[in-house]
Amino acid sequence: MQNNITIVGAGLAGSLLAVYLAQKGYTVNVYERRGDMRKADTGGGKSINLALSTRGIHALKEVGLYEKIKEIAIPMYGRMIHSIDGKTQLQPYGRDMSEYINSVSRAELNKMLMDLAEEYPGVKMHFNMRCTGMDLSACEIHYHNHETSADQKIKSNVTIATDGATSAIRMEMLKIPRFNFSQVYENYGYKELHIPPRSGGSFQMETNALHIWPRGSFMLIALPNMDGSFTCTLFLAYDSSLGGINSFEHLDSKEKVTEFFKKNFTDALELMPTLLEDFFHNPTGTLMTVKCYPWVMGGKLALLGDACHAIVPFFGQGMNAAFEDCIYLNECIGKHSGNWEKIFSEYQELRKANTDAIADLAQENFIEMRDLVADARFQLKKKIESELYKIYPDTFVPKYTMVTFLRIPYSTALKRGRIQESILNELSAGIKKPEEFDKAKADKLIKENLENLQS
Ligand SMILES: Cc1cc2nc3c(=O)[nH]c(=O)nc-3n(C[C@H](O)[C@H](O)[C@H](O)COP(=O)(O)OP(=O)(O)OC[C@H]3O[C@@H](n4cnc5c(N)ncnc54)[C@H](O)[C@@H]3O)c2cc1C
Repeated sequence: MQNNITIVGAGLAGSLLAVYLAQKGYTVNVYERRGDMRKADTGGGKSINLALSTRGIHALKEVGLYEKIKEIAIPMYGRMIHSIDGKTQLQPYGRDMSEYINSVSRAELNKMLMDLAEEYPGVKMHFNMRCTGMDLSACEIHYHNHETSADQKIKSNVTIATDGATSAIRMEMLKIPRFNFSQVYENYGYKELHIPPRSGGSFQMETNALHIWPRGSFMLIALPNMDGSFTCTLFLAYDSSLGGINSFEHLDSKEKVTEFFKKNFTDALELMPTLLEDFFHNPTGTLMTVKCYPWVMGGKLALLGDACHAIVPFFGQGMNAAFEDCIYLNECIGKHSGNWEKIFSEYQELRKANTDAIADLAQENFIEMRDLVADARFQLKKKIESELYKIYPDTFVPKYTMVTFLRIPYSTALKRGRIQESILNELSAGIKKPEEFDKAKADKLIKENLENLQS
Protein backbone atom coordinates (compact mmCIF):
# COMPACT_ATOMS: atom_id res chain seq x y z
CA MET A 1 0.00 0.00 0.00
CA GLN A 2 1.18 3.48 -0.90
CA ASN A 3 1.65 5.45 2.32
CA ASN A 4 3.45 8.53 1.09
CA ILE A 5 1.55 11.28 -0.64
CA THR A 6 2.91 14.43 -2.23
CA ILE A 7 0.87 17.62 -2.24
CA VAL A 8 2.03 20.44 -4.51
CA GLY A 9 0.89 23.82 -3.13
CA ALA A 10 0.36 24.70 0.54
CA GLY A 11 -2.47 27.15 -0.11
CA LEU A 12 -5.91 26.81 1.41
CA ALA A 13 -6.83 23.48 -0.18
CA GLY A 14 -3.36 21.92 0.06
CA SER A 15 -3.01 22.71 3.77
CA LEU A 16 -6.47 21.38 4.61
CA LEU A 17 -5.93 18.29 2.48
CA ALA A 18 -2.72 17.55 4.39
CA VAL A 19 -4.80 17.33 7.58
CA TYR A 20 -7.32 14.99 5.94
CA LEU A 21 -4.56 12.68 4.68
CA ALA A 22 -2.64 12.76 7.97
CA GLN A 23 -5.80 11.75 9.81
CA LYS A 24 -6.05 8.76 7.50
CA GLY A 25 -2.52 7.79 8.54
CA TYR A 26 -0.60 8.91 5.45
CA THR A 27 2.80 10.53 5.43
CA VAL A 28 2.43 13.79 3.54
CA ASN A 29 5.09 15.99 1.95
CA VAL A 30 3.78 19.39 0.92
CA TYR A 31 5.86 21.50 -1.50
CA GLU A 32 5.09 25.21 -1.62
CA ARG A 33 6.47 27.81 -4.02
CA ARG A 34 6.47 30.68 -1.53
CA GLY A 35 8.43 31.10 1.67
CA ASP A 36 6.72 30.26 4.93
CA MET A 37 4.02 32.95 5.27
CA ARG A 38 4.02 32.45 9.05
CA LYS A 39 7.54 33.89 9.17
CA ALA A 40 7.26 36.70 6.62
CA ASP A 41 4.40 38.38 4.77
CA THR A 42 4.27 36.79 1.35
CA GLY A 43 0.72 37.85 0.50
CA GLY A 44 1.38 40.44 -2.20
CA GLY A 45 -1.98 42.27 -2.18
CA LYS A 46 -4.18 39.34 -3.23
CA SER A 47 -7.70 39.04 -1.85
CA ILE A 48 -7.22 39.63 1.83
CA ASN A 49 -10.49 38.21 3.04
CA LEU A 50 -12.84 35.53 1.83
CA ALA A 51 -16.39 34.46 2.60
CA LEU A 52 -16.44 31.08 4.30
CA SER A 53 -19.81 29.32 4.22
CA THR A 54 -21.51 26.01 4.96
CA ARG A 55 -19.59 23.77 2.54
CA GLY A 56 -16.22 25.06 3.71
CA ILE A 57 -17.29 24.95 7.33
CA HIS A 58 -18.42 21.36 6.93
CA ALA A 59 -15.03 20.42 5.48
CA LEU A 60 -13.29 22.03 8.44
CA LYS A 61 -15.65 20.31 10.89
CA GLU A 62 -14.98 16.89 9.37
CA VAL A 63 -11.38 17.08 10.59
CA GLY A 64 -12.17 18.97 13.80
CA LEU A 65 -10.72 22.32 12.73
CA TYR A 66 -13.77 24.55 12.66
CA GLU A 67 -13.75 25.58 16.33
CA LYS A 68 -10.23 26.99 15.85
CA ILE A 69 -11.02 28.72 12.55
CA LYS A 70 -14.20 30.20 14.04
CA GLU A 71 -11.99 32.36 16.24
CA ILE A 72 -10.87 34.35 13.18
CA ALA A 73 -14.27 34.51 11.43
CA ILE A 74 -16.65 37.48 11.42
CA PRO A 75 -20.30 36.59 10.70
CA MET A 76 -22.01 38.54 7.90
CA TYR A 77 -25.79 38.27 8.07
CA GLY A 78 -26.67 40.05 4.85
CA ARG A 79 -25.73 42.34 2.01
CA MET A 80 -25.63 46.00 2.98
CA ILE A 81 -26.55 47.80 -0.21
CA HIS A 82 -25.16 51.31 -0.55
CA SER A 83 -27.13 53.37 -3.06
CA ILE A 84 -25.63 56.21 -5.00
CA ASP A 85 -27.27 58.77 -2.68
CA GLY A 86 -25.54 57.17 0.33
CA LYS A 87 -28.66 55.39 1.65
CA THR A 88 -28.11 51.85 2.94
CA GLN A 89 -30.38 48.84 3.06
CA LEU A 90 -29.65 45.45 4.65
CA GLN A 91 -30.82 42.45 2.62
CA PRO A 92 -30.55 39.38 4.88
CA TYR A 93 -28.86 36.35 3.32
CA GLY A 94 -30.94 33.74 5.08
CA ARG A 95 -34.36 33.36 6.62
CA ASP A 96 -33.02 34.05 10.11
CA MET A 97 -29.83 34.86 12.02
CA SER A 98 -28.71 31.23 11.90
CA GLU A 99 -27.94 31.60 8.19
CA TYR A 100 -24.86 33.71 7.62
CA ILE A 101 -21.51 33.71 5.86
CA ASN A 102 -18.15 34.51 7.47
CA SER A 103 -15.43 36.94 6.59
CA VAL A 104 -12.04 35.27 7.12
CA SER A 105 -8.58 36.58 6.42
CA ARG A 106 -7.03 34.47 3.65
CA ALA A 107 -3.56 34.74 5.17
CA GLU A 108 -4.66 33.99 8.75
CA LEU A 109 -6.72 31.02 7.58
CA ASN A 110 -3.83 29.67 5.52
CA LYS A 111 -1.37 30.11 8.39
CA MET A 112 -3.73 28.41 10.85
CA LEU A 113 -4.30 25.50 8.46
CA MET A 114 -0.54 25.10 8.04
CA ASP A 115 -0.06 25.09 11.83
CA LEU A 116 -2.83 22.55 12.26
CA ALA A 117 -1.43 20.35 9.50
CA GLU A 118 2.05 20.42 11.01
CA GLU A 119 0.67 19.21 14.32
CA TYR A 120 0.62 15.79 12.66
CA PRO A 121 4.09 14.20 12.75
CA GLY A 122 3.47 12.70 9.31
CA VAL A 123 3.11 16.10 7.63
CA LYS A 124 6.21 17.89 6.38
CA MET A 125 6.03 21.24 4.61
CA HIS A 126 8.82 22.28 2.24
CA PHE A 127 8.86 25.99 1.42
CA ASN A 128 10.49 27.94 -1.40
CA MET A 129 10.02 24.87 -3.61
CA ARG A 130 8.46 25.94 -6.87
CA CYS A 131 7.23 23.09 -8.99
CA THR A 132 8.54 23.72 -12.48
CA GLY A 133 7.10 20.64 -14.14
CA MET A 134 6.59 16.93 -13.88
CA ASP A 135 7.76 13.90 -15.79
CA LEU A 136 4.37 12.22 -15.83
CA SER A 137 5.55 8.81 -16.98
CA ALA A 138 8.39 8.63 -14.43
CA CYS A 139 6.21 10.22 -11.66
CA GLU A 140 9.00 12.65 -10.99
CA ILE A 141 8.26 16.21 -9.95
CA HIS A 142 10.71 18.98 -10.78
CA TYR A 143 11.28 21.83 -8.34
CA HIS A 144 13.37 24.96 -8.17
CA ASN A 145 14.46 25.83 -4.65
CA HIS A 146 14.43 29.62 -4.27
CA GLU A 147 16.69 29.58 -1.22
CA THR A 148 19.46 27.43 -2.59
CA SER A 149 18.78 28.08 -6.31
CA ALA A 150 19.08 24.33 -6.80
CA ASP A 151 16.88 22.33 -9.15
CA GLN A 152 15.60 19.08 -7.71
CA LYS A 153 13.71 16.07 -9.05
CA ILE A 154 11.66 14.16 -6.51
CA LYS A 155 9.85 10.92 -7.22
CA SER A 156 6.27 10.64 -6.06
CA ASN A 157 3.99 7.69 -6.65
CA VAL A 158 0.82 9.49 -5.55
CA THR A 159 0.60 13.25 -6.11
CA ILE A 160 -2.23 15.67 -5.49
CA ALA A 161 -1.74 19.07 -7.11
CA THR A 162 -3.30 21.97 -5.23
CA ASP A 163 -1.12 24.59 -6.87
CA GLY A 164 -3.93 26.96 -7.73
CA ALA A 165 -5.42 28.52 -10.84
CA THR A 166 -2.16 28.60 -12.80
CA SER A 167 -1.17 25.06 -11.76
CA ALA A 168 2.22 23.93 -13.08
CA ILE A 169 1.15 20.30 -12.83
CA ARG A 170 -1.96 20.97 -14.90
CA MET A 171 0.29 22.58 -17.51
CA GLU A 172 2.08 19.23 -17.77
CA MET A 173 -1.23 17.43 -18.14
CA LEU A 174 -1.89 19.50 -21.25
CA LYS A 175 0.56 17.16 -22.94
CA ILE A 176 -1.69 14.15 -22.29
CA PRO A 177 -3.64 13.21 -25.43
CA ARG A 178 -7.33 14.22 -25.27
CA PHE A 179 -6.84 16.43 -22.22
CA ASN A 180 -9.54 19.12 -22.33
CA PHE A 181 -8.72 22.55 -21.04
CA SER A 182 -10.30 25.98 -21.11
CA GLN A 183 -9.17 29.17 -19.45
CA VAL A 184 -11.40 32.20 -19.87
CA TYR A 185 -10.44 35.63 -18.56
CA GLU A 186 -13.15 38.12 -17.64
CA ASN A 187 -13.02 41.56 -19.19
CA TYR A 188 -13.18 42.79 -15.61
CA GLY A 189 -10.33 43.06 -13.14
CA TYR A 190 -10.26 43.86 -9.43
CA LYS A 191 -8.39 46.23 -7.18
CA GLU A 192 -8.08 45.93 -3.41
CA LEU A 193 -8.66 49.05 -1.34
CA HIS A 194 -8.82 49.72 2.36
CA ILE A 195 -11.12 51.27 4.97
CA PRO A 196 -9.19 51.58 8.24
CA PRO A 197 -10.75 51.27 11.71
CA ARG A 198 -11.69 54.37 13.74
CA SER A 199 -8.89 55.64 15.95
CA GLY A 200 -10.24 53.55 18.87
CA GLY A 201 -10.19 50.42 16.70
CA SER A 202 -13.94 50.14 16.02
CA PHE A 203 -15.51 49.55 12.61
CA GLN A 204 -16.55 52.57 10.53
CA MET A 205 -19.52 50.72 8.96
CA GLU A 206 -21.86 47.93 10.04
CA THR A 207 -19.58 45.06 11.05
CA ASN A 208 -21.72 42.03 10.36
CA ALA A 209 -22.51 42.58 6.71
CA LEU A 210 -20.97 42.26 3.28
CA HIS A 211 -21.16 45.80 1.92
CA ILE A 212 -21.99 46.26 -1.76
CA TRP A 213 -22.08 49.38 -3.88
CA PRO A 214 -23.79 48.00 -7.03
CA ARG A 215 -23.41 50.38 -9.95
CA GLY A 216 -24.70 48.51 -12.98
CA SER A 217 -21.62 47.52 -14.92
CA PHE A 218 -19.22 47.74 -11.96
CA MET A 219 -19.26 47.46 -8.19
CA LEU A 220 -17.37 47.92 -4.97
CA ILE A 221 -17.64 45.44 -2.11
CA ALA A 222 -16.23 45.46 1.44
CA LEU A 223 -15.72 42.66 3.96
CA PRO A 224 -14.83 43.22 7.64
CA ASN A 225 -11.47 42.26 9.17
CA MET A 226 -10.73 41.31 12.78
CA ASP A 227 -8.76 44.55 13.35
CA GLY A 228 -11.77 46.82 12.70
CA SER A 229 -10.83 47.55 9.08
CA PHE A 230 -12.59 46.56 5.87
CA THR A 231 -10.98 45.17 2.75
CA CYS A 232 -12.73 46.65 -0.25
CA THR A 233 -12.60 45.24 -3.75
CA LEU A 234 -13.44 47.29 -6.79
CA PHE A 235 -14.57 45.20 -9.78
CA LEU A 236 -14.29 47.21 -12.97
CA ALA A 237 -13.87 46.73 -16.73
CA TYR A 238 -10.26 46.75 -17.89
CA ASP A 239 -10.76 48.56 -21.14
CA SER A 240 -12.48 51.83 -21.91
CA SER A 241 -13.88 50.16 -25.04
CA LEU A 242 -16.08 48.15 -22.62
CA GLY A 243 -16.46 50.39 -19.57
CA GLY A 244 -15.91 53.86 -21.03
CA ILE A 245 -14.96 56.23 -18.22
CA ASN A 246 -15.76 53.42 -15.77
CA SER A 247 -12.69 51.35 -16.59
CA PHE A 248 -9.19 50.79 -15.22
CA GLU A 249 -7.83 52.04 -18.51
CA HIS A 250 -9.55 55.39 -18.09
CA LEU A 251 -8.65 55.80 -14.41
CA ASP A 252 -5.02 56.68 -15.00
CA SER A 253 -4.65 59.79 -12.84
CA LYS A 254 -5.32 60.78 -9.24
CA GLU A 255 -7.87 63.35 -10.40
CA LYS A 256 -9.85 60.81 -12.41
CA VAL A 257 -9.87 58.26 -9.57
CA THR A 258 -11.02 60.88 -7.06
CA GLU A 259 -13.72 62.08 -9.44
CA PHE A 260 -14.86 58.47 -10.09
CA PHE A 261 -15.17 57.75 -6.37
CA LYS A 262 -16.88 61.10 -5.65
CA LYS A 263 -19.47 60.34 -8.27
CA ASN A 264 -20.07 56.66 -7.54
CA PHE A 265 -19.01 55.84 -3.98
CA THR A 266 -19.20 59.13 -2.02
CA ASP A 267 -19.89 57.48 1.35
CA ALA A 268 -17.00 55.02 0.89
CA LEU A 269 -14.61 57.73 -0.29
CA GLU A 270 -14.98 59.54 3.03
CA LEU A 271 -13.71 56.42 4.81
CA MET A 272 -10.72 55.75 2.54
CA PRO A 273 -7.82 58.04 3.45
CA THR A 274 -5.33 55.94 1.47
CA LEU A 275 -7.49 55.48 -1.63
CA LEU A 276 -5.05 56.97 -4.13
CA GLU A 277 -2.03 55.22 -2.67
CA ASP A 278 -3.89 51.88 -2.65
CA PHE A 279 -5.31 52.39 -6.12
CA PHE A 280 -1.98 53.07 -7.76
CA HIS A 281 0.13 50.77 -5.59
CA ASN A 282 -2.00 47.61 -5.50
CA PRO A 283 -1.96 45.37 -8.56
CA THR A 284 -5.06 44.97 -10.71
CA GLY A 285 -6.08 41.36 -10.25
CA THR A 286 -7.37 39.18 -13.06
CA LEU A 287 -10.45 36.99 -12.90
CA MET A 288 -10.70 33.73 -14.74
CA THR A 289 -12.58 30.49 -15.06
CA VAL A 290 -10.60 27.30 -15.58
CA LYS A 291 -12.19 24.04 -16.58
CA CYS A 292 -10.37 20.87 -17.52
CA TYR A 293 -10.82 17.12 -17.85
CA PRO A 294 -9.59 14.63 -16.83
CA TRP A 295 -8.44 15.79 -13.41
CA VAL A 296 -6.57 12.58 -12.77
CA MET A 297 -3.96 10.32 -14.28
CA GLY A 298 -4.63 6.76 -13.19
CA GLY A 299 -3.81 6.33 -9.53
CA LYS A 300 -0.71 8.52 -9.78
CA LEU A 301 -1.93 12.08 -9.98
CA ALA A 302 -4.99 14.20 -9.25
CA LEU A 303 -5.78 17.90 -9.36
CA LEU A 304 -7.81 19.52 -6.59
CA GLY A 305 -9.16 23.03 -5.87
CA ASP A 306 -8.41 25.95 -8.18
CA ALA A 307 -5.88 23.79 -10.03
CA CYS A 308 -8.81 22.09 -11.80
CA HIS A 309 -11.71 24.50 -11.29
CA ALA A 310 -10.80 28.13 -10.76
CA ILE A 311 -13.94 30.26 -10.79
CA VAL A 312 -14.81 33.95 -10.57
CA PRO A 313 -15.39 35.07 -6.97
CA PHE A 314 -18.97 36.33 -7.25
CA PHE A 315 -20.65 33.52 -5.34
CA GLY A 316 -17.89 33.40 -2.72
CA GLN A 317 -17.45 29.69 -3.41
CA GLY A 318 -13.96 29.03 -4.83
CA MET A 319 -12.38 28.10 -1.52
CA ASN A 320 -15.59 26.49 -0.27
CA ALA A 321 -15.67 24.28 -3.37
CA ALA A 322 -11.98 23.42 -2.95
CA PHE A 323 -12.61 22.45 0.68
CA GLU A 324 -15.60 20.39 -0.44
CA ASP A 325 -13.28 18.52 -2.85
CA CYS A 326 -11.37 17.36 0.23
CA ILE A 327 -14.53 15.89 1.76
CA TYR A 328 -15.32 13.89 -1.36
CA LEU A 329 -11.76 12.74 -1.93
CA ASN A 330 -11.63 11.65 1.69
CA GLU A 331 -14.83 9.65 1.29
CA CYS A 332 -13.36 7.92 -1.76
CA ILE A 333 -10.16 7.13 0.18
CA GLY A 334 -12.29 5.56 2.90
CA LYS A 335 -14.26 3.53 0.38
CA HIS A 336 -11.44 2.17 -1.78
CA SER A 337 -8.66 1.87 0.75
CA GLY A 338 -5.31 2.06 -1.01
CA ASN A 339 -6.67 1.70 -4.55
CA TRP A 340 -5.69 5.13 -5.82
CA GLU A 341 -6.93 4.53 -9.32
CA LYS A 342 -10.44 3.93 -8.02
CA ILE A 343 -10.14 6.71 -5.44
CA PHE A 344 -9.13 9.35 -7.98
CA SER A 345 -11.54 8.19 -10.65
CA GLU A 346 -14.57 8.27 -8.34
CA TYR A 347 -13.51 11.61 -6.82
CA GLN A 348 -13.35 13.20 -10.27
CA GLU A 349 -16.72 11.79 -11.32
CA LEU A 350 -18.35 13.06 -8.14
CA ARG A 351 -16.93 16.56 -8.47
CA LYS A 352 -16.56 17.52 -12.12
CA ALA A 353 -20.23 18.26 -12.96
CA ASN A 354 -20.60 20.13 -9.71
CA THR A 355 -17.59 22.37 -10.09
CA ASP A 356 -18.68 23.13 -13.67
CA ALA A 357 -22.04 24.15 -12.21
CA ILE A 358 -20.58 26.47 -9.58
CA ALA A 359 -18.43 28.06 -12.28
CA ASP A 360 -21.61 28.94 -14.20
CA LEU A 361 -23.44 30.05 -11.06
CA ALA A 362 -20.54 32.32 -10.10
CA GLN A 363 -20.56 34.03 -13.48
CA GLU A 364 -24.31 34.60 -13.30
CA ASN A 365 -24.01 36.03 -9.82
CA PHE A 366 -21.74 38.83 -10.99
CA ILE A 367 -24.66 40.33 -12.88
CA GLU A 368 -26.86 39.88 -9.81
CA MET A 369 -24.37 41.55 -7.48
CA ARG A 370 -23.25 44.48 -9.57
CA ASP A 371 -26.61 45.28 -11.11
CA LEU A 372 -29.70 43.47 -9.97
CA VAL A 373 -29.47 43.83 -6.18
CA ALA A 374 -30.34 47.49 -6.69
CA ASP A 375 -33.10 46.74 -9.19
CA ALA A 376 -36.75 47.06 -8.09
CA ARG A 377 -37.96 44.04 -10.08
CA PHE A 378 -35.14 41.91 -8.70
CA GLN A 379 -36.12 42.91 -5.17
CA LEU A 380 -39.76 42.14 -5.90
CA LYS A 381 -38.76 38.66 -7.12
CA LYS A 382 -36.61 38.17 -4.01
CA LYS A 383 -39.61 38.93 -1.79
CA ILE A 384 -41.83 36.51 -3.69
CA GLU A 385 -39.02 33.96 -3.48
CA SER A 386 -38.81 34.25 0.29
CA GLU A 387 -42.63 33.94 0.56
CA LEU A 388 -42.53 30.76 -1.54
CA TYR A 389 -39.67 29.45 0.59
CA LYS A 390 -41.89 29.86 3.67
CA ILE A 391 -44.81 28.07 2.00
CA TYR A 392 -42.72 25.30 0.35
CA PRO A 393 -39.61 25.04 2.57
CA ASP A 394 -38.37 21.81 1.00
CA THR A 395 -39.29 22.51 -2.59
CA PHE A 396 -38.72 26.17 -3.34
CA VAL A 397 -35.35 26.88 -1.75
CA PRO A 398 -33.65 30.12 -2.90
CA LYS A 399 -30.62 29.53 -5.13
CA TYR A 400 -28.40 31.52 -2.78
CA THR A 401 -29.52 29.30 0.12
CA MET A 402 -28.88 26.09 -1.83
CA VAL A 403 -25.36 27.19 -2.73
CA THR A 404 -24.36 28.91 0.48
CA PHE A 405 -26.23 27.31 3.37
CA LEU A 406 -26.85 23.79 2.13
CA ARG A 407 -24.60 21.06 0.80
CA ILE A 408 -26.79 19.82 -2.01
CA PRO A 409 -24.72 19.32 -5.16
CA TYR A 410 -23.97 22.53 -7.04
CA SER A 411 -25.37 20.98 -10.23
CA THR A 412 -28.72 20.43 -8.48
CA ALA A 413 -28.67 24.02 -7.22
CA LEU A 414 -28.05 25.23 -10.76
CA LYS A 415 -30.86 23.14 -12.22
CA ARG A 416 -33.41 23.96 -9.51
CA GLY A 417 -32.35 27.62 -9.51
CA ARG A 418 -33.13 27.95 -13.22
CA ILE A 419 -36.59 26.41 -12.85
CA GLN A 420 -37.35 28.66 -9.89
CA GLU A 421 -36.16 31.71 -11.79
CA SER A 422 -38.63 31.04 -14.57
CA ILE A 423 -41.44 30.55 -12.03
CA LEU A 424 -40.51 33.85 -10.37
CA ASN A 425 -40.48 35.59 -13.75
CA GLU A 426 -44.02 34.41 -14.39
CA LEU A 427 -45.29 35.31 -10.95
CA SER A 428 -43.74 38.77 -10.88
CA ALA A 429 -44.86 39.77 -14.37
CA GLY A 430 -47.25 42.72 -14.32
CA ILE A 431 -47.32 43.23 -10.54
CA LYS A 432 -45.74 45.92 -8.36
CA LYS A 433 -45.99 44.56 -4.82
CA PRO A 434 -44.97 41.09 -3.58
CA GLU A 435 -48.34 40.47 -1.90
CA GLU A 436 -50.02 40.76 -5.32
CA PHE A 437 -48.55 37.52 -6.69
CA ASP A 438 -51.02 34.82 -7.65
CA LYS A 439 -50.72 32.05 -5.05
CA ALA A 440 -52.88 29.59 -6.97
CA LYS A 441 -50.68 30.04 -10.01
CA ALA A 442 -47.57 29.57 -7.84
CA ASP A 443 -49.01 26.34 -6.49
CA LYS A 444 -49.79 25.11 -10.00
CA LEU A 445 -46.30 25.98 -11.35
CA ILE A 446 -44.56 24.35 -8.42
CA LYS A 447 -46.65 21.18 -8.72
CA GLU A 448 -45.90 21.01 -12.43
CA ASN A 449 -42.17 21.13 -11.68
CA LEU A 450 -42.25 19.12 -8.47
CA GLU A 451 -40.06 16.26 -9.61
CA ASN A 452 -37.24 18.52 -10.75
CA LEU A 453 -37.54 20.85 -7.80
CA GLN A 454 -37.20 18.04 -5.32
CA SER A 455 -34.42 16.05 -6.97
C1 LIG B 1 -10.76 38.45 -5.51
C2 LIG B 1 -11.08 37.06 -5.05
C3 LIG B 1 -12.02 36.88 -4.04
C4 LIG B 1 -12.34 35.60 -3.63
N1 LIG B 1 -13.30 35.45 -2.67
C5 LIG B 1 -13.66 34.20 -2.28
C6 LIG B 1 -14.66 34.02 -1.28
O1 LIG B 1 -15.20 34.98 -0.75
N2 LIG B 1 -14.98 32.75 -0.91
C7 LIG B 1 -14.42 31.66 -1.49
O2 LIG B 1 -14.78 30.54 -1.12
N3 LIG B 1 -13.46 31.80 -2.43
C8 LIG B 1 -13.09 33.04 -2.84
N4 LIG B 1 -12.10 33.19 -3.78
C9 LIG B 1 -11.50 31.99 -4.40
C10 LIG B 1 -10.41 31.40 -3.53
O3 LIG B 1 -9.41 32.35 -3.29
C11 LIG B 1 -9.81 30.19 -4.22
O4 LIG B 1 -10.81 29.36 -4.76
C12 LIG B 1 -8.95 29.37 -3.24
O5 LIG B 1 -7.88 30.16 -2.82
C13 LIG B 1 -8.50 28.08 -3.90
O6 LIG B 1 -7.60 27.43 -3.05
P1 LIG B 1 -6.42 26.56 -3.66
O7 LIG B 1 -5.68 26.05 -2.49
O8 LIG B 1 -6.95 25.64 -4.66
O9 LIG B 1 -5.52 27.61 -4.45
P2 LIG B 1 -4.63 28.78 -3.84
O10 LIG B 1 -5.27 29.33 -2.63
O11 LIG B 1 -4.34 29.70 -4.97
O12 LIG B 1 -3.29 28.04 -3.39
C14 LIG B 1 -2.35 27.56 -4.31
C15 LIG B 1 -1.03 27.38 -3.59
O13 LIG B 1 -0.11 26.75 -4.45
C16 LIG B 1 1.10 27.48 -4.46
N5 LIG B 1 1.70 27.32 -5.78
C17 LIG B 1 1.33 27.86 -6.95
N6 LIG B 1 2.11 27.47 -7.95
C18 LIG B 1 3.02 26.63 -7.39
C19 LIG B 1 4.12 25.91 -7.92
N7 LIG B 1 4.44 25.98 -9.21
N8 LIG B 1 4.84 25.13 -7.07
C20 LIG B 1 4.52 25.05 -5.75
N9 LIG B 1 3.51 25.74 -5.20
C21 LIG B 1 2.76 26.51 -6.02
C22 LIG B 1 0.67 28.92 -4.19
O14 LIG B 1 1.76 29.69 -3.71
C23 LIG B 1 -0.42 28.70 -3.15
O15 LIG B 1 0.09 28.59 -1.86
C24 LIG B 1 -11.74 34.47 -4.20
C25 LIG B 1 -10.75 34.65 -5.19
C26 LIG B 1 -10.44 35.94 -5.62
C27 LIG B 1 -9.41 36.11 -6.70
